Amino acid sequence: MDLLNTLLDKGLRRELPTRDEALAVLATSDDELLDVVAAAGRVRRQWFGRRVKLNYLVNLKSGLCPEDCSYCSQRLGSKAEILKYTWLKPDQASEAAAAGLAGGAKRVCLVASGRGPTDRDVDRVSDTIKAIKDQNEGVEVCACLGLLSDGQAERLRDAGADAYNHNLNTSEGTYGDITTTHTYADRVDTVRKAHAAGLSACSGLIAGMGESDEDLVDVVYALRALDPDSVPVNFLIPFEGTPLAKEWNLTPQRCLRILAMVRFVCPDVEVRIAGGREVHLRTMQPLALHLANSIFLGDYLTSEGQAGKADLDMIADAGFEVEGTGEVTLPEHRATAHAGCGSHTGASAEAGADAGAGCGSHGGGGCGPCGSTVREAAPEELVQEAARGSEARTDLVAVRRRGAGTDLAPNA
Ligand code: SF4
Repeated sequence: MDLLNTLLDKGLRRELPTRDEALAVLATSDDELLDVVAAAGRVRRQWFGRRVKLNYLVNLKSGLCPEDCSYCSQRLGSKAEILKYTWLKPDQASEAAAAGLAGGAKRVCLVASGRGPTDRDVDRVSDTIKAIKDQNEGVEVCACLGLLSDGQAERLRDAGADAYNHNLNTSEGTYGDITTTHTYADRVDTVRKAHAAGLSACSGLIAGMGESDEDLVDVVYALRALDPDSVPVNFLIPFEGTPLAKEWNLTPQRCLRILAMVRFVCPDVEVRIAGGREVHLRTMQPLALHLANSIFLGDYLTSEGQAGKADLDMIADAGFEVEGTGEVTLPEHRATAHAGCGSHTGASAEAGADAGAGCGSHGGGGCGPCGSTVREAAPEELVQEAARGSEARTDLVAVRRRGAGTDLAPNA
């Protein structure tokens, strides 16, 4: 297939595909799907081998957000029955992080709901970062606290943060349909602030919110222009009690095409499967490891993921290996002196184009991967699923009731 040969060559050379080529990936047929995965998988192996980086979410502050992001279970007016709590103390957050690190994670993502941190919030998170770093040598810490004000990125960096996450989520053209309380430009601004402070920028998207193929390509090209080191790809978890609760429009095949397209456009960047992995890829998750080189271990912000042990088994069964703390994630040409976390060197020739979004969200649960879990379904339930279309899927989405903010052990 000429398209895939072209995309493979470009991916190996870190050359940007044309928009038409990216759109053509999304338009491939199911008959072509394995060829698409194979081509994008070769690009993935060129830059990341067979390593899978594990990341672990700690939701420092859950729910009660004044913003109105439609995908988010923590939004203003959300009826989702999620855990709601205010800031975890540093030792509580550190204890939660330790569970993920013991499970094999090398990065801890500290997430808080809200429009953005106050300076007092930055102090709290700085104390938490120090507590985690003091107790876990070599750990990478990423903060995800929403829109940053001037100077806050520098303070987080000085406290020991390696990275900052803030997702663009969707295209500039559709951003106003998803959120009205902040703008796409606000989000771009925060990603740039993180970059400028020397933090490793992490910024991604949410697929499945009713967007077109063109919108998906728009946001991925905008991300490439912003040149983050990591790109989380969330698949919308249609949380009951949120405006997008009925948006069940992703299939495993669609998710694989989206991941392949992201890999071709951002060949040497850490592509992370974020919220919605279990819900939408379901039994096709192992194939997605050929495209992405990073996942979250265990639970998400407000919903459950599959058991951490199942994640580790899946990685081993698929012939991949968990990336160790001593290994640098990014290819040499992108890696810099960030302690433990490879950071870009500005390799993207397109840097400069606008893209952006408020707090980084990882899949519909708020400012981090909301994610959810997949329960075993009997065959007749699967048949009904195909017929149900946009009905609620409480069998697929489980609210997180353990880990941070509870007295129960976390899933890691
Ligand atoms: S994504 Fe972040 S800013 Fe938006 S509603 Fe959720 S917690 Fe608030």
